[in-house]
Amino acid sequence: MTPARDAFLSELDARAAAGRPLVLWLRDDDAVEPTPALDRLLGLMGALPLTLAVIPAATGPALARHLAGRQAVSVAVHGWSHRNHAGPVEKSQELGAHRPAATVLAELGAGARHLSALHGDRALPLLVPPWNRIAPGVIAGLRGAGFAALSTFGPQARAAGQGLAEVNSHLDIIDWRGTRGGRPAEALWSEALGLARMDLPALGVLSHHLVHDGAAWAFLEDLVALTASHPGAVWPGVARIIAKAQDPGS
Ligand SMILES: [Zn+2]
Repeated sequence: MTPARDAFLSELDARAAAGRPLVLWLRDDDAVEPTPALDRLLGLMGALPLTLAVIPAATGPALARHLAGRQAVSVAVHGWSHRNHAGPVEKSQELGAHRPAATVLAELGAGARHLSALHGDRALPLLVPPWNRIAPGVIAGLRGAGFAALSTFGPQARAAGQGLAEVNSHLDIIDWRGTRGGRPAEALWSEALGLARMDLPALGVLSHHLVHDGAAWAFLEDLVALTASHPGAVWPGVARIIAKAQDPGS
C-alpha cells in the first residue's frame, strides 16, 4: 500500500458510508483490430463496462466479430482516420479548424455510420476526438451530425449549450512526454484522489492498450481490484452516464 492509494481507499470508504459512490468509467483509445493487448484489457475488465474509442477508417469486421457477446463493451467514434491536419509547430489535431467544419463533420458522420454498421447497438453516438482536441465550429455541428455526446480530456466543459452530454476522461495513465509507458502509481492515486474530491458526475480513466507497459497494466489491475466490488465505487457504463447527463432525474 502507498499513502496516496490508502487515501483513495479512505475516500471510497467515506463515500460508501455517505451513500455517494464514486462513478467511474474507462475509455481506452485507438482500437482497430483484435490484438493480444486488447485481449488482456478485455480480460482485466471482466464484466465491468469498457468503452473502446475505435478509429473508423482503420477498422473492419474482425474487431466487431471479436467483441460479439461482450455485453459490457461499448464503442465510441474516435475521429475518422486519426490523421493529423495541424501544422508542424502545432499540437496534433484531426478535428481542428484547419479544414472546413462541414468537411470534418461529413467524415465524422461517415465514421459513426461505419461503426454502427459493424457494431450495432454497441456503437454509441459518442465522439472521442483524437488527441482530445476539437474546434468549436466542429462541436457546434455535432448534434446535427447525429452525435449525442462528446468526450475530451479534463474537468472543463467544452460543449456548453450545444445539446451534447459531456463525458470526459480525467486520469491519463500514460506518461506521454516521458517514458511513454505507465505513470508511477503513486502519482496516479494522488491524482485520482484529487479528482474524486472534485465531485465530477463521473471520473473517466483514460488508457491506450496498444502502448501499455507493465506499470500501466499494473495500475489498471489495481484500480479494478480496488473498485469493482467496493460499495464506494460504481461502474455504470458510459451509456448510463450519458443518459444521466441528458436527464439528471433519470
Ligand atoms: Zn487516439
